[in-house]
Amino acid sequence: MTTSTAAPNLATSANKPLESDPIVDKLHSLARTESRAYDLVRSLVDEAGSRLAGSPGDKAAVAWGVRTMKELGMQNVRAEKVMVPHWERGAESGRIVSPVSHTLALNALGGSVSTTGKGIEAEVVMVDSMQALEKLDEASVKGKIVFFSARMQRSRTGDEYGRVAPMRAYGASAAAKKGAIATVIRSVGTDHDRFPHTGGMRYEKGVPEIPAAALAVPDAELLERLVLAGKPVRIALSLSSKTFPDAESANVVGEVIGREKPDEVVLLGAHLDSWDTGVGAVDDGVGCAAIIEAARLVMSLPVRPRRTVRVVLFANEENGLRGAKTYATDHTVEMEKHHLAMEVDYGSGRVHTIRFLGAENSAATFSRIAGFVAPLGIAYEQAPASGGADTIPLRPFGVPLVDLSQDATKYFDVHHTANDTLAQVAKEDLDQVVAAVATVAWAAADAPDFFARVPEEQRGRK
Ligand code: ZN
Ligand code: ZN
Repeated sequence: MTTSTAAPNLATSANKPLESDPIVDKLHSLARTESRAYDLVRSLVDEAGSRLAGSPGDKAAVAWGVRTMKELGMQNVRAEKVMVPHWERGAESGRIVSPVSHTLALNALGGSVSTTGKGIEAEVVMVDSMQALEKLDEASVKGKIVFFSARMQRSRTGDEYGRVAPMRAYGASAAAKKGAIATVIRSVGTDHDRFPHTGGMRYEKGVPEIPAAALAVPDAELLERLVLAGKPVRIALSLSSKTFPDAESANVVGEVIGREKPDEVVLLGAHLDSWDTGVGAVDDGVGCAAIIEAARLVMSLPVRPRRTVRVVLFANEENGLRGAKTYATDHTVEMEKHHLAMEVDYGSGRVHTIRFLGAENSAATFSRIAGFVAPLGIAYEQAPASGGADTIPLRPFGVPLVDLSQDATKYFDVHHTANDTLAQVAKEDLDQVVAAVATVAWAAADAPDFFARVPEEQRGRK
């Protein structure tokens, strides 16, 4: 009931419900007492397992999504075809060769090429940022393995991810331009477990493609200490990852049809794929479960909202965003009927802040919706919503967005690791997320006026 949960230096309203609303009260109480979200995550991860695009788990997850939404009584349930990249990790290993011998816990980054033949062995050159790499002359990098040692600090907002993850995504090409033969990064994570954090990476066209891997944090810290000790450090890498032709997957869509304006849509999104090392319970099984359960709760009310609530389980968020891109292409003509969109992809931590991105004249309705989630301990921040990865392709159309910012304090401990399992999901926190999503979905879908489009100048990605 204070503004203390919001980010500093930004205007936030006090947590004051504007009025009591019986339907909103009902949704909050249903989410507390009858939520099936945890069981939904369990069934997804137990039945489909890891779900990297193009894998058998990806296929099983699409079947799970269709069957689950049908069983819950949702309408227009369908799988919309998406062609996705297909990359497989294969066997991988690494070690410090000198000045001492140590095994390294590592994962190839998603999309990495393999090391050829017997693998790679070379001296390490350590940098802590892209800028630091930029400053090195080619002679000191050529023929070596570049080690990005940047560490990610833990925080509730998880915003350090935005600073560190670009080294994972673009570090290999930057290093290759200087003649490096491979890169390793300190995992983009906040734990000290021996679980490497994989994640997407991309090669720049026209630059040699070199292998790239992430080291578990303790292994990266060992490597850092050895480098700082001053003697030349050599490591060996063996990766056998491989890229195959694109495979078929799907966005899974289900709806709760609106009672007055069925063609106007409130979109609830999450991604169905996951990395291959864990089972993606946290990233993003909980997101899929939260939006399906929120829609089910809305459907269980005695009255349907004016507009349609559409659940979209996006394909291939992790290594291509093909699901989101294909959705925007396939639904272009319908984009002007997208009333509001939100995405749940930040684990199962509790929602602490709500933000909107929309037109000026929607402010009163946004504020009213924020009032409805205030009893859940959610502060209203008057800064524009930034949306998520799967809503990027909706931005040029000016579709209004809402952020339900979740507590990410622990999220990056298991993010993209083999340790992302059901054991990491806290049921009560997840049910608070369900309550927030259901409330916003209901209140937006039932709002009297259609939300005007986001002004042109605010449509770019922040
Ligand atoms: Zn995710
Ligand atoms: Zn992810």
